[in-house]
Amino acid sequence: MSEEYTLPDLPYAYNALEPYIDEATMKLHHGKHHAAYVAGLNAALKKLEEARAKGDFASVQALSKLAAFHGSGHIMHSIFWEIMCPAAKSKAPSSGALFDALVRDFGSLDAFKKQFSEAAKTVEGSGWAVLAYEPSGKRLLVLQAENHQKLTVQGSVPLLVLDVWEHAYYLLYKSDRAKYIENWWNILNWAEIEKRLIAAQRK
Ligand code: MN
Repeated sequence: MSEEYTLPDLPYAYNALEPYIDEATMKLHHGKHHAAYVAGLNAALKKLEEARAKGDFASVQALSKLAAFHGSGHIMHSIFWEIMCPAAKSKAPSSGALFDALVRDFGSLDAFKKQFSEAAKTVEGSGWAVLAYEPSGKRLLVLQAENHQKLTVQGSVPLLVLDVWEHAYYLLYKSDRAKYIENWWNILNWAEIEKRLIAAQRK
């Protein structure tokens, strides 16, 4: 039997991303929202275990959807915390494996940022913008994810993700999703994103 999923600690303090993301938002986002996805994933898997024990799969469709939603919610938030850092430590790349791949697949770092920002602004409802590595074509893709789990290219590995659910920015930015996206570029842990790319390329 595999172990239950657990909420990972943040790699920095709740106020470390200020002034771009505020402490109150981070506390709610990590301690309530992300925690709820972890609990929801464990609950769905537990109910599937019970269904197998009883041989009663009447709820298998609903439980499968819950596992995908909460499971993707947990994974996406875990990545989101890791690819951010305090603004003082954020340094955009001008060389290296990630920079080279971004230039190859998007033309320039600026062109990538523009496409990613536009993808983030236009996610319909709640969701994410995603920079992913697609292993069969060995290329980077910018994708949108609705909710946490919809619209992916299967098998692609998320490297950089931006949460544009209202819970991610509403306390500080109200309805100004565009301003939140613009400010978020100041708190990216580019070294971590490059590490994720190199790991994805090795698989
Ligand atoms: Mn979120």
